Amino acid sequence: MTDWNKRTLTAQAMGHIDPLTRAVVPPIHVATTYIRDADNGYSSGYIYARPHNATVHEAEAVLAMLEEAPAGALLFASGMAAAVAVFESLAPGDHVVASRVMYWGLRNWLANEATRWGLAVDFVESDDLDALRAAVQPGRTRLVWIETPSNPMWTITDIAAAADIAHAAGARLAVDSTCASPVHTRPLTLGADLVMHSASKVLNGHSDVIAGVLAAREDSDLWERIKATRHNRGAILGPFEAYLLQRGMRTLHVRQERQSASAMALAQRLTAHPMVAQVLYPGLPQHPGHDVAARQMSGGFGYMLSVRLTGGEAAAIGAAARVRLWKRATSLGGVESLIEHRASIEGTGSPCPTDLLRLSTGIEDTGDLFDDLDEAIRAGSRG
Ligand SMILES: *Cc1c(COP(=O)(O)O)cnc(C)c1O
Repeated sequence: MTDWNKRTLTAQAMGHIDPLTRAVVPPIHVATTYIRDADNGYSSGYIYARPHNATVHEAEAVLAMLEEAPAGALLFASGMAAAVAVFESLAPGDHVVASRVMYWGLRNWLANEATRWGLAVDFVESDDLDALRAAVQPGRTRLVWIETPSNPMWTITDIAAAADIAHAAGARLAVDSTCASPVHTRPLTLGADLVMHSASKVLNGHSDVIAGVLAAREDSDLWERIKATRHNRGAILGPFEAYLLQRGMRTLHVRQERQSASAMALAQRLTAHPMVAQVLYPGLPQHPGHDVAARQMSGGFGYMLSVRLTGGEAAAIGAAARVRLWKRATSLGGVESLIEHRASIEGTGSPCPTDLLRLSTGIEDTGDLFDDLDEAIRAGSRG
C-alpha cells in the first residue's frame, strides 16, 4: 500500500475500512475511557482519551504519510498549541533563533511570552543565510524556527541550508510549513527535524476546524518532551475536529493544486496592473526567493500572495472594503478566497507595510476573482 502515490493514500484516508460495518468512512470515536483486559493489561494500547483516540490517530497517520515523517505526527488543539509545545519543550535558558517575518501570533508569543518561560529569542531575516549563520550560537542555540513561505511577505528560506546551519551549531530546525502545505514541500526530507502546520488552513481547507500538527524526522529527547507536553497539558484535538480534518484532507491535493494555479495566474495578471506597485508571490521570477522556492517547492508555489498598492494605505483599506466576491476576513487556505489589510490586524511592531493586502486564493473561477479585485482597486482612483 505504501508505494501508492500520496494523493491516492490521502483521497482514501489510508484506505481505512471500519472492521465492524465495512463502512468506507471511519466512525467518530468519542469514548473517553477503555476496558482493561482480564490480565489487567491494555492490549489495545488505548487507556484514556487524552492521549489515546482512534479518530485522532487516523488523521495523524495521514499527516505522517504526507510529511514523510518516520517518527510520526501529533495533532494539537490549534496551530499555536502545536508551535508553543515545541518551545515549551525546551529548557529555561535555551536560546532560540526565529524568522522575523512570520505568523504574527507566534512572533508576539515569542517576543512577549517565551521570555517569561526563560527562553532567549533572537529574530533574524532567515532568508539571509549569512544573517542566520551569525545569529546561531554554537552550543547555546537549541532551536532554529523558520516559516517559509512566510506571512505576509512570502519570503523564502532555504530549508536545506538552514538545517545545515542549525545542525552545525548543535541546534534543531523546525519549519512552519502551513503556507507551502505537504503538497508542495516536505521539510523533513530536506533536513528539517520538525515540521509544523496550522491545520486550520489548507489541510482542512473549509474554514471550519481549528487544529495544529507537528511531525518529526526522528525520535529524540525533544520529540519525547513534545509528546509529554501534549499529553500532560492536554492541548489535544477533539474527535469531531479530527474527523472533519480527515474528511477535508481527502481533497487536499485537488484543492491545493487548483488554489496554487489560480494564485499564480492572479500574481501574473496583477503584476501588469497600473495601480499595483508590487506583487509578492514566490512563483514570480522577479521574487527574490524564486530560485530557492523553485528548488524546494514542487507542483506550485502556494495559494498565498500579497499586493502593494500605488495608492498606499488608504487605497489598500478602501479596496478591501469594496470587494464583493473576495471575503474580507482573516485566516487563509479555505475554498473561499479571503482578502485582508494585514497591518490593521498585526498592529505596532509588525514588519508588514501599510499598503499591503494579503490574498488567500480559494477555488472560485480565477477570472471572477481577478475582475472583482480589479474593480475594487480601480474604484478607489475614481472616488
Ligand atoms: C494560522 C497560522 C498559525 C496559527 O495556527 P492556529 O491554528 O490559528 O492556531 C501559525 N502559522 C501560520 C503560518 C498560520 O497561518
